[in-house]
Amino acid sequence: MVAGHQECVKCGAELSRIHAVACSRAGALIDHLGRGIPVGRRLGPTVIDWVINALAKEMKPDQADLIVEAIDKIERECRGRERSATGFWS
Ligand SMILES: [Zn+2]
Repeated sequence: MVAGHQECVKCGAELSRIHAVACSRAGALIDHLGRGIPVGRRLGPTVIDWVINALAKEMKPDQADLIVEAIDKIERECRGRERSATGFWS
C-alpha cells in the first residue's frame, strides 16, 4: 500500500507505512481490533499489519471493511491518490 520514497501529501514528511497510519489516523479505525491481538502475534510495523496478519484466516466481513477503509484513508490523505488524477495535488 505504501512503497518507495515519497512525501506525505498531507504533511510533507517522508511517507513510510508507520507515518501514514499515524498521520491519516487510519490506525484509529482499527485500533480496537489491534488491541485484541496478543503482543506475541503482532506481526509487522503497524496496527494494520497486525490485524491483517492475525485475522487473515478468519476475518469477518465487517473487519475486512474496516481494514479496507483504513487503507483507503491512507491512500486518500497521505498519497492523494484520488486527487492526483485531477492534478489537484501535483
Ligand atoms: Zn503525514
